[in-house]
Amino acid sequence: MDMDTIVAAATSPGMAGIGIVRVSGKQAIPIVSKIFKSKNGKELSKLPNRKLNFGWIKDPLDQKLIDEVLTVAMKAPHTYTREDVVEINCHGGIISVEKILKILVSQGARLADRGEFTKRAFLNGRIDLSQAEAVMDLVSAKTKKGFEVSFHQLEGRLSQEINAIRTQLMEMTAQIEVNIDFPEYDEEQMTLETIADISREIEKKIHRLIQSSETGLIYKEGIKTLILGKPNVGKSSLMNYLLNENRAIVTEIPGTTRDTIEAFINLAGIPLKLIDTAGIRNTEDLVEKMGVEKALQKIDEADLVLMVMDGSRELEEEDRMVLEKTKDKTVIYLLNKTDLEEKITFEGLEKVEKELIRIAIINNEGLERIEKRVKEEFLSGKMSVENDVIVSNLRHKELLKQAKNSIQAVIESIENGLTLECVEVDIMDTLTYLGEITGESVKDDLLDKIFSDFCIGK
Ligand code: GDP
Repeated sequence: MDMDTIVAAATSPGMAGIGIVRVSGKQAIPIVSKIFKSKNGKELSKLPNRKLNFGWIKDPLDQKLIDEVLTVAMKAPHTYTREDVVEINCHGGIISVEKILKILVSQGARLADRGEFTKRAFLNGRIDLSQAEAVMDLVSAKTKKGFEVSFHQLEGRLSQEINAIRTQLMEMTAQIEVNIDFPEYDEEQMTLETIADISREIEKKIHRLIQSSETGLIYKEGIKTLILGKPNVGKSSLMNYLLNENRAIVTEIPGTTRDTIEAFINLAGIPLKLIDTAGIRNTEDLVEKMGVEKALQKIDEADLVLMVMDGSRELEEEDRMVLEKTKDKTVIYLLNKTDLEEKITFEGLEKVEKELIRIAIINNEGLERIEKRVKEEFLSGKMSVENDVIVSNLRHKELLKQAKNSIQAVIESIENGLTLECVEVDIMDTLTYLGEITGESVKDDLLDKIFSDFCIGK
């Protein structure tokens, strides 16, 4: 494949010890040679491969020195992109990096698109698509476990499993071809039975992968959590507690019309993604923003509701309304202000009363039990990140579901007495769906979409 030479900052802008500019492509070494002056006077292409070389970046127009740097040239194919790669370690901060980028572009390199280095690693066959996607997930992981899931995916655990299933499917189609070409009734019957058996085995494997995505998506996407309750029960106090105690990661999502903010809190390794975070910036605003009416509209999108009630007041109509509206959801019922005299009663709501977690946010009391309950609700009986192949990507999950439908169609067709020709189509479909996970069968526009979510320089 003939690709141009790309360049990007691999480190994020801002105050830092070093900044790294990465160049990849056929012209990477010649282009950097034009602007790198090594201490010992040798040209970059004559310096040892994969060794750091001390020197300076100079502006080729006026020979003025820009920064003191360490430069390493890595010759293809054993590089991140499988192309020639040069990395320039300059001083951190934005000025040096930007100047170097500008000079490299003036010498013929092109600013890389989002994820373009990783896309090249995929296109050049170093990693498959699911591994490329894992790279992005690693960079954006919110918890250690989330990182671990993606790291295993990068190592190729998921790819191996998918490829093993694909091999079985391909062997089946080969077998079918032989039978179609040399049909003998007995042979065909035997082949059909064998195919049904293997298909059932494959269906089980795919089903297990789909199941694993429950765990995977919790770690990757977080549990969408809504804090509900009537005014003054302690919602914002709880929110503040959770944000302060649990290493919240609050990120702004650019490009959205509304000023969207994502807040993740890390509860014993489980990321909770707080919904309705418009108020997080401004806690003054929070009480109003989290008003019952407004918050009720968000119930549908929540995986978990933390319902807060005030133990020092009677149960009121508004409490009952929240209880009613959330009855089909996973709800953790929190009875707050237990430091005060208890006035609340739960007639007709014995189930709620039994499940109550009693807390006093003001004294930090009982709050560790929220963590315990979240674990019980979401991780009991789930798969182990260490030992199981875990799917953590929605795209993969959807493709697995389609693959499962196709392999089920194979089994049904055989059970209904259809011929080999009829089942072959569904076997091929299963193959295609699984191939889209690893990128074996994937269209260009989908690739563009996947890589456009990456960050620049990755
Ligand atoms: P929100 O309207 O539901 O967000 O409630 P806030 O978090 O603003 O709390 C309302 C009031 O209850 C504030 O004055 C808090 O200090 C107080 N509060 C919160 N938690 C407790 C608690 O555990 N005990 C007592 N006594 N007061 C609390």
